[in-house]
Amino acid sequence: MIAEKVLFLVLDGISDRPCEALDGQTPLAAARTPVLDRLASEGVCGIMDTIAPGIRPGSDTSHLALLGYPPQDYYTGRGPLEAEGTGIHMTAGMIGFRCNFATTDENGLVTDRRAGRISGTAPLARAIREGVDLSALGVGFRFESGAGHRAALALTGEGFGDAVSSNDPKAEGARPIAIRPLSDDPADEKTARACNEFIRQSTEILARHPLNVQRAKEGLPPANLLLIRGAGKMGAFPSFRERYDLSGSVISAATLISGIGKAVGLEHIPVPGTTGSADSDLDAKMKAVLDELERKDFVLANIKGADEAGHDGKAVEKRDFIEAIDAALEPLLALTDTLIIICADHSTPCSVMDHSADPVPVVIRGPGVRIDRVDRFDEISCAEGGLNRIRGRDIMPIILDLINKSHKYGA
Ligand code: ZN
Ligand code: ZN
Repeated sequence: MIAEKVLFLVLDGISDRPCEALDGQTPLAAARTPVLDRLASEGVCGIMDTIAPGIRPGSDTSHLALLGYPPQDYYTGRGPLEAEGTGIHMTAGMIGFRCNFATTDENGLVTDRRAGRISGTAPLARAIREGVDLSALGVGFRFESGAGHRAALALTGEGFGDAVSSNDPKAEGARPIAIRPLSDDPADEKTARACNEFIRQSTEILARHPLNVQRAKEGLPPANLLLIRGAGKMGAFPSFRERYDLSGSVISAATLISGIGKAVGLEHIPVPGTTGSADSDLDAKMKAVLDELERKDFVLANIKGADEAGHDGKAVEKRDFIEAIDAALEPLLALTDTLIIICADHSTPCSVMDHSADPVPVVIRGPGVRIDRVDRFDEISCAEGGLNRIRGRDIMPIILDLINKSHKYGA
């Protein structure tokens, strides 16, 4: 039997190093994970350098590599991918930025880079879209609010560069910085000028917006400044369907990942209740995954919470969240005719509190795989599996071969 459907599940940052708090085990090894272990015992396992040995991946570059879009050819910065994930349709050449709603005091100093982790900023975004006018500079723009304090900006028009600084002082109690071109190129100057004017006008609108007046009354930090960063020019991505002859969807609460999926032409399926954190509704996400597998050939799903625990250095919480993920994956055991790939996009060791280059565990389970002797899904056990040590860019060719969609090389 040949699988017709593919589920590619990325457990973001689940991979780790030995943790003191767990008697020298990794959170994944310390967690009780009967479902993942069963999938490992029924599949072929290995470890994977998502980019290359010794290269510390970002979630963006690693997901591009996993989908078969080498980041050295396709990655142009985080901003345009975040903008795509936030709901701005980015076309090649548009400049995208990630934004934060932030708070400044009466002296113009940044007092909260996340405006008290404000949420429900859609009315602010609408006022900015209606009120800001950059036409005098020959510039158009798109602006969308995202989850929590996040938002995205894109500039439209001709002759923009993407080498510009940010206005984010990166510290509280500091003054926001004017955005500067990082070269003598007039294209970068044009972008910097447009950004500074956008910030000036949006700050005026935010200062008098009823939502902020109300927040001030309630003693909450107003969202009266936009911090914008991560400038990048949207690249041109050949579509996933053209490339692999597969229809596909992406399911991820993280806008960076849904943006990457959308950039390559996967349909983004939003799932209410999923947050990209440890409080996410994992059952709702898995239900959406199963529904999408009915409709599409390929589903990319990302579960983010373990990465967050790694960034916070919380080994016990990371282990516990992994156990919650494992419980949510139970329905996958019944999908015996689907090719299931489970891996991490990078390690996020609690001892490092950031991503590391340690290879990640990977399992492929489904029709046709040569089942190896690995019966536990963790960093150490998977290293003994039949896939041995592969790179992120190897995964799509392996998948295509297993579903009989790869082209023969030679006669
Ligand atoms: Zn990641
Ligand atoms: Zn991370």
